Amino acid sequence: MEETATETLLIDAARRAVAYLAGLNDRPVRPDHAAVAALAQFDEPLPEHSVDPQAVLRLLDELGSPATLAMAGPRFYGFVIGGALPATLAANWLAAAWDQNTALYNVTPATAVLEEVALRWLLDLLGLPGEAAGAFVTGATVANFTALAAARNSALRHAGWNVEADGLFGAPPITVVVGAEAHPTLFKSLGMLGLGRNRVVRLPVDGQGRVRADDLPKLAGPAIVCVQAGNVNTGAFDPFEPICQWAHDEGAWVHVDGAFGLWAAAVPSRVHLTTGMAQADSWATDAHKWLNVPYDCGLAFVREEPALRSAMSITAEYLPTASVQRNPSDYTPELSRRARGVEVWAALRSLGRSGLVEMIERCCRHASRFADGLEAAGYEVLNDVVLNQVLVSFGSPEKTQRVIQDIQDDGTCWAGITGWQGRTAMRISVSSWATTDDDVERSLQAMLRAAGRNS
Ligand SMILES: *Cc1c(COP(=O)(O)O)cnc(C)c1O
Repeated sequence: MEETATETLLIDAARRAVAYLAGLNDRPVRPDHAAVAALAQFDEPLPEHSVDPQAVLRLLDELGSPATLAMAGPRFYGFVIGGALPATLAANWLAAAWDQNTALYNVTPATAVLEEVALRWLLDLLGLPGEAAGAFVTGATVANFTALAAARNSALRHAGWNVEADGLFGAPPITVVVGAEAHPTLFKSLGMLGLGRNRVVRLPVDGQGRVRADDLPKLAGPAIVCVQAGNVNTGAFDPFEPICQWAHDEGAWVHVDGAFGLWAAAVPSRVHLTTGMAQADSWATDAHKWLNVPYDCGLAFVREEPALRSAMSITAEYLPTASVQRNPSDYTPELSRRARGVEVWAALRSLGRSGLVEMIERCCRHASRFADGLEAAGYEVLNDVVLNQVLVSFGSPEKTQRVIQDIQDDGTCWAGITGWQGRTAMRISVSSWATTDDDVERSLQAMLRAAGRNS
């Protein structure tokens, strides 16, 4: 039977994607200068006429693919970024073909059910209260935003104020408490919610970035306390138990930003880091980081379902929302959106509990190997390596900067620069399913060669 033009196109896309992924192991992790320069060819006038979609795909592959950073590959350690498990990439392709507008159960039952199942599995895996509501959003920034909108609703409702109806003008002020090493995007979320990026109480932290629980302030009136599971530099966890105890005694809502650290709760060897975390009121995490699903995918969980629902539901009359089923859009900022829960379901369905535990433990073991290898060579590791994050100084800030640049240029692997409590460091974050022992050894040797060249 002859292929239709659409079939030919989609098969070509799959073939190109497969070739791209197969090439990741041997190409430099950074893109070529020449490939980046060639991106200028995209900058052409808007075409007047239609062209063959296959020619468009060819252009995209020939110009775009070489100019990508190999984030999907096994030796990318920048930011805190996972790859995409094969099962999740495949599920993403199929779900894109379905093209389901995942807002309402009655309209898109398959994707609504998959999200519900994935949520139930997640609450179980992460040790969160079974009654918590959940939302599939674009990432941890929006997950923090979503959970904090629920927190704002609840804090003001207890003070007799309906913030969704009446807004913040004239509302009782909310005290927002954050750790001094909170992620920068948390402040952005607070800003978007009208809670202010700057009008926060900052709790002092220790050398790992953990909130110090020894001198917690009195809180008066509505209050939200934001803590962290996994500092983006050190991987450290706030002491949830004493903080939840104090915050709840003070009548405050506790929110946990666990963009990548929340996953430690699923792993017996790391779960001690999260002691007391389940006592919080809301949690945010990413699936596109450590669960290794494609972008974009984050999750918000809220213990008090009505608080999230009041903050997010629409109830416009023309929409068939009367369903007794769970409508995804009652929990998210978006109405129309892609079915991002499908990849989460595929990740969990394919890994199972033991596969997830093994993947997280493997990343942590790789991080420890990096730390040991760098320390053995005489370089200073600045953090306690409790998870998948390693901060290393190669000497002075200038030298550390030069070594990082050299490592990136060399292309064997990629790690980025960061500042940590006044020091300049390279941050190695091992978050990809694809990284092997051999990748770690190759990367470590490349780092040590670069450090040697710049001494
Ligand atoms: C990555 C990260 C974020 C932001 O997540 P996005 O998915 O990029 O929006 C927030 N908090 C922490 C601790 C993070 O590591």
